[in-house]
Amino acid sequence: MSDCLFCKIAAGEIPATVVHETPTTLAFRDINPHAPVHVLVIPKEHHEDALALAEAGLAGDVLSTAAAVAAKEGIAESGYRVTFNTGPDAGRTVFHAHAHVLGGHPLEMRLG
Ligand code: 5GP
Ligand code: ZN
Repeated sequence: MSDCLFCKIAAGEIPATVVHETPTTLAFRDINPHAPVHVLVIPKEHHEDALALAEAGLAGDVLSTAAAVAAKEGIAESGYRVTFNTGPDAGRTVFHAHAHVLGGHPLEMRLG
């Protein structure tokens, strides 16, 4: 998609701090981190949301990359959260599917 921020990051047209890359995914630091480790994992292909990602057979790739990021960032043992925001109530702002990988300190749990 020509007008998609994360497609531009995937294409290298907008800079990002990349922490991990696979043939199908890219992981880079969130520009506005909410935890000591806050990394976004995207499919390189444009898919709108987590359901589209699952239907394309790429959800497993994104989750595997999230686990690789956690290992690389040293939070695999201490623990981390993987989140897909969907829709306005979740505060979603970028409409290229992405997983947030959060960790590096105890994470508050708010369910609603
Ligand atoms: P959402 O709310 O859609 O789940 O999350 C979008 C995330 O993308 C936000 O956490 C926001 O800080 C991050 N973000 C927005 N623009 C950029 C950017 O240009 N570069 C990077 N690295 N992160 C961005
Ligand atoms: Zn896109």
